[in-house]
Amino acid sequence: MLEGKVAIITGGTRGIGLETVKLFKENKAEVILFGSRKETVDKALASLKEEGIIVDGYYPNLNSVEEVNSVIDCINTKYGHIDILVNNAGISANKKIEDTTYEEFVNIIDLNVNAIFNLSKAVVPYMKKNNSGVILNTSSMVSICGQPSGVGYPASKSAVNGMTLSLARELAPFNIRVNAVAPGITNTDMVAKLPKEMMEPLIKTIPLGRIGEPRDIANAFLFLASDMASYITGVVLSVDGLARN
Ligand code: NAD
Repeated sequence: MLEGKVAIITGGTRGIGLETVKLFKENKAEVILFGSRKETVDKALASLKEEGIIVDGYYPNLNSVEEVNSVIDCINTKYGHIDILVNNAGISANKKIEDTTYEEFVNIIDLNVNAIFNLSKAVVPYMKKNNSGVILNTSSMVSICGQPSGVGYPASKSAVNGMTLSLARELAPFNIRVNAVAPGITNTDMVAKLPKEMMEPLIKTIPLGRIGEPRDIANAFLFLASDMASYITGVVLSVDGLARN
């Protein structure tokens, strides 16, 4: 579904991002993964290599304009074009407001929102030049229904929805589609820390009777990245087993 396409996936070292790397490769894209540190990128590249999957990896500071511009330029020079950007890197929060520092709140917005602006801004000139491109953002179910603590996280994901809708309008004349996927609770390190006593009642509220697997979310990214979604832009696609309330 992605033959001939060059795709950059942030937060590609584990969880949803790593699964998306694998699925995009299965579908014949050239994939470049970004991670936060050299060690985690090296580890991901090595484990992919063991499975016979060869991809490039970089670890720019996603909030540095210089570092992001430089790595995007380098990728464009190496591959000749950039077709797909998946803004997947993200951090969550679960502290009550009184226990959350201003710096912790800003930290979440920096990665979950500002980095998406920074990366999207960096790839858009290359996509405009080719009159073609796809930007996919990772939202969350909590952008719609909120959560009872960790206010920075749903706030950041609601901002992701706003950016998705606005950039979809702004970039449609250049044949650049912008969509988001809003996962429900998904089986990654991000939720592994949650205690069983918390998970079991949560699962009971999900009509499909289970939490999501990384592949469920990667499948949605694949569809939206492919030409199968050629007339879809500005959509926030919920992939949550209808876990919204
Ligand atoms: P994860 O914690 O397994 O992976 C997060 C990824 O983000 C990692 O690859 C990590 O390297 C990267 N990352 C973290 N901090 C970074 C930084 N400062 N700079 C660069 N990269 C950084 O999480 P996941 O569950 O796979 O989450 C992926 C995305 O899906 C996130 O945007 C998350 O908010 C979203 N999401 C997850 C769930 C869930 O239940 N797991 C639900 C809704 C949305």
